[in-house]
Amino acid sequence: MNLKPLTAAELSELTAGLNRVARNLWWTWTQEAQDVFQELSPRGWRNLYHNAVAILHEVSDYELRVRLQDPEFAARVKQVIAKFDAYMGEKDTWGNQNMGHLTKNPVAYFSAEFGFHETLPIAAGGLGMLAGDHAKSASDLGLGFVGISLFYREGYFMQAINQDNWQTEFYTLLKPENLPIEPVLDAKGEPVQGSVKIATNQVYFRAWRVNVGRIPVYLLDTNLPENEDHYRDLTLRVYGGDTSTRIMQEILLGVGGVRLMRMLGLSPSVFHMNEGHAAFLGLELVREKMAAGQALEQAKEATKQECIFTTHTPVEAGHDRFSSDLMSFAAHKFEKQLNISHDELMDLGRVNPGDQSETFCMTVLALRLSRAANGVSELHGAISREMWQCLYPGKSVDEVPIGHVTNGVHLLGWMKGPLRSFWKGRLGESWSDKVNESSFWEKMLDEDFISDEEIWALRYRLRRELLEFTRRRLLLQGHSLTAGDYIAFDHLLNPDALTIGFARRFATYKRAPLVFQQFEKVVELVKDKERPIQFIFAGKAHPRDDEGKKFIQHIIHLSKFSELQGNLVFIENYDVHVARQMVSGCDIWLNNPRRPLEASGTSGQKTSPHGCLNMSILDGWWREGYDGTNGFAIGDDSHPDSVEEQDRVDSENLFNVLTEEVVPCFFNRDQGGIPRQWIQKIRRSMATLSAEYSTWRMVQDYANKYYKS
Ligand SMILES: *Cc1c(COP(=O)(O)O)cnc(C)c1O
Repeated sequence: MNLKPLTAAELSELTAGLNRVARNLWWTWTQEAQDVFQELSPRGWRNLYHNAVAILHEVSDYELRVRLQDPEFAARVKQVIAKFDAYMGEKDTWGNQNMGHLTKNPVAYFSAEFGFHETLPIAAGGLGMLAGDHAKSASDLGLGFVGISLFYREGYFMQAINQDNWQTEFYTLLKPENLPIEPVLDAKGEPVQGSVKIATNQVYFRAWRVNVGRIPVYLLDTNLPENEDHYRDLTLRVYGGDTSTRIMQEILLGVGGVRLMRMLGLSPSVFHMNEGHAAFLGLELVREKMAAGQALEQAKEATKQECIFTTHTPVEAGHDRFSSDLMSFAAHKFEKQLNISHDELMDLGRVNPGDQSETFCMTVLALRLSRAANGVSELHGAISREMWQCLYPGKSVDEVPIGHVTNGVHLLGWMKGPLRSFWKGRLGESWSDKVNESSFWEKMLDEDFISDEEIWALRYRLRRELLEFTRRRLLLQGHSLTAGDYIAFDHLLNPDALTIGFARRFATYKRAPLVFQQFEKVVELVKDKERPIQFIFAGKAHPRDDEGKKFIQHIIHLSKFSELQGNLVFIENYDVHVARQMVSGCDIWLNNPRRPLEASGTSGQKTSPHGCLNMSILDGWWREGYDGTNGFAIGDDSHPDSVEEQDRVDSENLFNVLTEEVVPCFFNRDQGGIPRQWIQKIRRSMATLSAEYSTWRMVQDYANKYYKS
């Protein structure tokens, strides 16, 4: 080995390179890069919650330079930097080959939330995670693409459970200097500043840039001394405040986002509205065209040609509606800009123009101002066509111009360390180049490639990591156990047990406590010492959703005071990190929404690469993914009309699948203790679901269907 000390120039190159890597989220889906930051400060890694930028603040420049004199470490750092630079400079991408027109005129993807990583908690749930994964795959594909959102300096709330087992919310301030974001500068090197008229005020904003591999995501921020306090706080929290805050955030996102594009000299060829929150962007595009001399109808038609819209939910409350009063207070500026009356503005968001009783619906506006729209699974596409047929008089349901692109996940970002090491061990350094191809995952069907014993060993490793993570978290939560029932944390939960996970937002339609409706029967199952099972739950309810909070309270109560105590736990403060542990470590991923309200669902898609099997209602993506061999279905491809009937039937079906299929299959072991049938299902699940439900496939679908021209 070459033990020659590094020169000052080499040292500077490496430290600069590491700083570059830390400020690009590429490192979050690249194991070697993570390893370097973790090794710099293992304790900081945990305490700073896996924050590469903060680690580089924690470790002094002097220490870094000294550590880099370790030739082995320096060699790895050099390799990471080289890999990063190669990724950034790659020309031979899918996007360049197939979507070259987007290089000059990119897709501008507007989303009220983006979920990238636990250190930048500016997403509330699946919608944001999807946007983040969309951006990561757009980068991997080399697509001309920019994202637009808001910089919420207190992010989404953190969850704590009080003595009454009631969810409480608290917030911490995100510090830009400790985040992988940088101020957006103009040509003169000054921070860009724009403004938007909201209510009677001129509201100023600046912008931050998040580097997501090759693509930028811009976050607008009104926290400027030029603004009144009230407006400085407009970007304080994700979906914070009341409907008045909401409409103002949406004006900022839509109008401010388009203005930022112009300040940066960008002419996007497609404006993609991710959910109705972004739909005001259409009105800004119309304004621009009218300012350039077009008449209203012509400007609307031209705007429509530029916009596409993705709707994400059939749940009524998921569609923003603003009253006439609120519109005239907050959004009256549009009337003057488009030279229309208040009623004409309202009509743009009404199903029935002229109906004074109708509020302004952002989904209606989005559908009116886009050339194409889509739902996020086949069933959701169909449901959306029914829901919005009213907007297309004279068209049959089938003719309503709403298609579908089924959601996916960014595989490399979700794959946990042991899984990455496994593939690297099998395929060598370049394993990750092929991870999005179905032929990669089909190797899992081959017993010569990997034996049942090896799969089982991997499953044990991932389950144990989850249990140890859970024990640590419960110890920190402390109060989740009563003193009388004290169980040593190191013995909490059973590494041999069938581990069933449920983690997602506690929106009531997701019916978190459904499995406990058959309470006595579940207790019986749990008491079976020969075939142990256990449940891990996590999730946040929206701060104003008391019904969701009651669900949490009920489950925590059961975990502490019922016969399920010790076999049921609730991990507080669900976020990306908790999600990653759970989707990899659980054996069964439980999903029991009230069909057809789960438009797609994505958490179950994160499980298949890890060999955790889905047990789900045939709603959203699972209705397409399930093939009879790769997991478990609760019920069939139908649902009763009445909600009460549905809850009853679904909870019975759930219990039947659990007792008749899942538990016997998991505990049916051969003489060597291997559950052959179960592992066969794992192979099928990995091979049939992983590539198909990736954002690599999804973003290509969007590109081919909607970004082409
Ligand atoms: C994947 C994910 C979600 C979405 O889960 P669904 O089951 O689709 O609702 C929500 N929150 C986090 C943190 C996630 O990682």
